[in-house]
Amino acid sequence: MSTPPPLAGGKNGPDALRPLLETALGALTEGAGTRGGPLPSGGPATVAIRVREAAGDLLPTHGTGAENALRTLVGAVAAGAADPADPLCAAHLHCPPLAIAAAADLAASALNPSMDSWDQAPAASALEALLTATLAAEVHGPGTGDALITTGGTESNQLALLLAREHAATRGHPLRLLTGANAHHSLRRAAWLLGLPEPVTVPAPAGVLDPAALDEALSELTELTELTELSGPSGPSERTGRAGRSGPAATVLVAATAGTTDAGLIDPLTDIADLCAIHGARLHVDAAYGAGLLFSDTHRPKLHGLERADSVALDLHKLGWQPAAAGILTVRDPADTRALDHRADYLNADDDTEAGLPDLLGRSLRTTRRPDALKIAVTLKALGRTGLGALVDQVCDRARELADLVAAHPRFDLYDKPAISTVLFRPTDADDEYIAHVRRTLLDNGTAVLGRAQLDGRRWLKATLLNPHIRTEHLTALLTLVEGTSHR
Ligand SMILES: *Cc1c(COP(=O)(O)O)cnc(C)c1O
Repeated sequence: MSTPPPLAGGKNGPDALRPLLETALGALTEGAGTRGGPLPSGGPATVAIRVREAAGDLLPTHGTGAENALRTLVGAVAAGAADPADPLCAAHLHCPPLAIAAAADLAASALNPSMDSWDQAPAASALEALLTATLAAEVHGPGTGDALITTGGTESNQLALLLAREHAATRGHPLRLLTGANAHHSLRRAAWLLGLPEPVTVPAPAGVLDPAALDEALSELTELTELTELSGPSGPSERTGRAGRSGPAATVLVAATAGTTDAGLIDPLTDIADLCAIHGARLHVDAAYGAGLLFSDTHRPKLHGLERADSVALDLHKLGWQPAAAGILTVRDPADTRALDHRADYLNADDDTEAGLPDLLGRSLRTTRRPDALKIAVTLKALGRTGLGALVDQVCDRARELADLVAAHPRFDLYDKPAISTVLFRPTDADDEYIAHVRRTLLDNGTAVLGRAQLDGRRWLKATLLNPHIRTEHLTALLTLVEGTSHR
């Protein structure tokens, strides 16, 4: 048998990687050149044909060799990419990763620590512990809280519900989720996954959770609670204080949003935290998008009250410029994470843990887990708070500028001033159907990637600005493109 292909790790790994990297990087350059815009032109069928032609047989009897496979497939994916590094790629919370983060992620791939036991990740797990403490302190205050690394807001929201459910269970309560109509779809799905009752939805008429409506919903749940208690087997004597906390009543988890997916708006966090305290409800804040504002002196005050949440979801693959995945769930009370404690003899036997080997299995519901902490830690250290804050300021400034351009434009309507970096707008005279058509035309042409959102009973085009290199000329180019497509 011939020699097996070289490995990425070990003393010789870097030397084996170097020429392959040259090939891969060359294919990236070439692919971006072929594409020439934010998206490949021609739509899904055309792209699929191009990929099929370039790929050929994906499991040939005899392989084509590293050089050929890298060049053709990396090249095909790059040529057909929706590239968030292109200033006109602005549909989703899909950020262009920083080169520094991608470089660190390559090192992580080469070393391949697995975060499910210490003997697979000695230093990586120690670094992860430092990072999670740093991020928990950033959200909840110095020396406070803990954090878990996740694959993103979806997993963070699931974990938040799970931890809340288990926390409620220790007091004999079922959990009831209460969200705004503006909450991310993953919360409802998490409630379904965890077997929770149908969530209570509070209206968000202006795109944010309305505190008066929340107060009313919480009072109603509390009232139901009292009725259950009075008629229930345990009776009123079981009542231990605030009605919402007592008897067979449900514990309510309020899930607020800091940075809604559609409009980038921030729920009134202080009011919500006050109401949760009054009604004895737990608070989770889905700040998957908005938490990045913490790094900016200018924008951090918008998150006032976030520190009071029992748990917070933040995605550094949004305002954090990490390659996916870089999700975090912080908790104010580190004891909450004990719900994830779990034993598997081969990974965290009691005697190993007693002998001092850190127990990593309880840090996630996953088993094998990538060291996403490395790229995040490298980025935070390289840029520092001011470096990251400047990137946040930059995208927020450009969003405000785009909103101003839209507002001043005779043929466009603006939804609202951006709270973060999302701008919703629509051609003044277009109907909803036509707005969807404009978006798809731009996708087909490969000239711009815009999102869509349904708000106020109307459809809007959505620009989510996450590219810190975007400039005024790109914003005007974007509006010109939309205007050019808007003529029937
Ligand atoms: C992006 C986002 C999510 C989902 O996060 P993923 O990282 O895609 O799993 C959840 N909530 C909000 C508010 C988001 O912006």
